Amino acid sequence: MTMQRRSFLHSTAALALLGTAGCATTSIPSRARVVVIGGGYGGATAAKYVRLLSDHKIDVVLIEPNAAFVSCPLSNLVLGGSKQLADITTPYAGLERNHGVTLVKDWAKAIDTSRKTVTLAGGATIAYDKLVVSPGVELQMDGIEGLRAAHASGRVLQAWHAGPETVALRRQLEAMPDGGVFAIAIPEQPYRCPPGPYERACQVAWYFKNAKPRSKVLILDANQDVVSKAGLFKRVWAEQYKGIVEYRPQHKTVAVDARAGVVKFEVHEDVKANVINALPSMRAGAIAVQTGLNNLANNRWCGVDFLTFESAVVKDVHVIGDSIMIAPAMPKSGHMANNHAKVAAAAIVSQLSGWAVNPSPMLTNTCYSFVDDKNVVHVASVHEYVAADKTFKAVAGSGGLSPGPTELEGSYAMNWARNIWADALA
Ligand SMILES: Cc1cc2nc3c(=O)[nH]c(=O)nc-3n(C[C@H](O)[C@H](O)[C@H](O)COP(=O)(O)OP(=O)(O)OC[C@H]3O[C@@H](n4cnc5c(N)ncnc54)[C@H](O)[C@@H]3O)c2cc1C
Repeated sequence: MTMQRRSFLHSTAALALLGTAGCATTSIPSRARVVVIGGGYGGATAAKYVRLLSDHKIDVVLIEPNAAFVSCPLSNLVLGGSKQLADITTPYAGLERNHGVTLVKDWAKAIDTSRKTVTLAGGATIAYDKLVVSPGVELQMDGIEGLRAAHASGRVLQAWHAGPETVALRRQLEAMPDGGVFAIAIPEQPYRCPPGPYERACQVAWYFKNAKPRSKVLILDANQDVVSKAGLFKRVWAEQYKGIVEYRPQHKTVAVDARAGVVKFEVHEDVKANVINALPSMRAGAIAVQTGLNNLANNRWCGVDFLTFESAVVKDVHVIGDSIMIAPAMPKSGHMANNHAKVAAAAIVSQLSGWAVNPSPMLTNTCYSFVDDKNVVHVASVHEYVAADKTFKAVAGSGGLSPGPTELEGSYAMNWARNIWADALA
């Protein structure tokens, strides 16, 4: 953290986030409190930026059960074996030390939206003026027959929340005999991180190519086709991982039999695999669902006002990150969650201060995918708020796609990760 608080507040970045209208007329109430649920890409960023944008006048309490932040981006490299969990772990202490965020290590158990309080699993109750809900996704384990029990037994893991399960899945790959099969089952979109499963297939294939060359990676995709960077991934599988990776579209997994090592589909024959990584459908994080914020898409996702990220259902509750119903062409990504957080933080500070909310927020996104330990491809986009449609839309001609994997993009990807971790946590 080299940038001083005051210089940040007077920077164009801070003014752009807040919008400038009405800044001089009212002042930030000194005792307002913002409570944030979830210290991931969205929540940690929101906690820090409410402090920064309010000149540290608004109290911020961050509720997160984990002792440290473990990044999903780059976690596929732990499966490939080129990174360790420690490489993708950052302590939360910087938020407290550098920004005065109060850290509460606990689960938010219940939100009372009429009393404006959050009750913790430990029993305490915290009052809020504004609440930010960023709990990520909940995996819908019951959507695949046998999956909940297979997961509980430790036989079929998802590792779609980075942490100990990522290491456990790596151990399964290490224990698999050469000549074995790793099957990854992908749900229909939308799900957390569109390119994530395809990057994972590359990482496992890279490991097999070097350590178990007779082994196979089977990609069992419920979608019609690869949903992100399709041409790039397919080229890598055909050229770099020929004979190792096999892609099967329109394979919707309906059941797993962990004991027999079998994956079953709506149509198509069963598949046998040594290591099964079955990803079920996803929905908004459990606390958002429990609070009734999940009003859209068959109650899977939370609708928000895209100017402020305030819930469409409950006032003074802002939902960000993977839990929201996305705007067109908006991925469920860490980069996006970080950007949602900044727009929401600016809107919250403005609302608590009696200022006008920025009427034209912008979002950016870049998703890097490692195809081996060094070479990377990316997809990028820019999204602008369109007032007439009350949503974000991709800016025509913005963004782009790599022509092919390079080591140079590998260094960009590592720096992207270091920068976004610092932006959210340092
Ligand atoms: C394998 C993989 C690779 C990925 N790669 C990329 C990538 O390269 N680039 C990219 O931009 N994105 C990537 N993503 C996606 C990215 O991780 C998510 O989009 C991002 O984490 C969403 O942020 P979030 O704040 O919504 O959720 P999270 O980051 O998951 O944070 C949610 C937090 O809320 C906490 N929480 C949940 N419930 C409660 C509760 N009741 N009380 C208190 N705390 C709670 C959790 O402990 C967690 O820390 C990847 C994801 C995966 C799985």
